[in-house]
Amino acid sequence: MLAISAFLFFPRVSNASGEYTFLSNEIRAVNISNTFSFKVTVSHNMTENIPAEFDRIEVILREGLRYLESYGINTTQCKKLDLKVRYIEYENLNNRSLMSSLNWSSIGDTRLTGVYALEDPENPAGYGEIFISSNIEMNVIVATLRHELLHFLQDTTCSIDSNSELLATRFE
Ligand SMILES: [Zn+2]
Repeated sequence: MLAISAFLFFPRVSNASGEYTFLSNEIRAVNISNTFSFKVTVSHNMTENIPAEFDRIEVILREGLRYLESYGINTTQCKKLDLKVRYIEYENLNNRSLMSSLNWSSIGDTRLTGVYALEDPENPAGYGEIFISSNIEMNVIVATLRHELLHFLQDTTCSIDSNSELLATRFE
């Protein structure tokens, strides 16, 4: 299986009946540089084998900042965003009525291993949100996590442009 991911706009719908429920939510404050800090929440079902311990996320984020800098990208934190990392089963991630809080209109029939959900600019909530498939091969989970974490960094540094997808794929 290949890592397949997408950006999605994330309209905050008031009717949240399709929202996925998590058994576990853990929160930690993370600093990835002197001036770069935010809150990370990791959510999952405890029955799953979850690789996304906070230390791994922190290491990837620090690496991602240096990676963006190597492309001459200004990595100032221009948008104050916290981060939510959600692990859910591949089948559930791709169940569009269950995941009705995501705007699927630009995705076509593609089935995804991960999503970085951008805020709805009309209704900013103060965080970026990543969904990762929890029940696929570990190397694909890690590649997808790296890809989506780079999108979070691009979002919070306001550096999303036409190259963002290419850079995130190379970072996997
Ligand atoms: Zn992407």
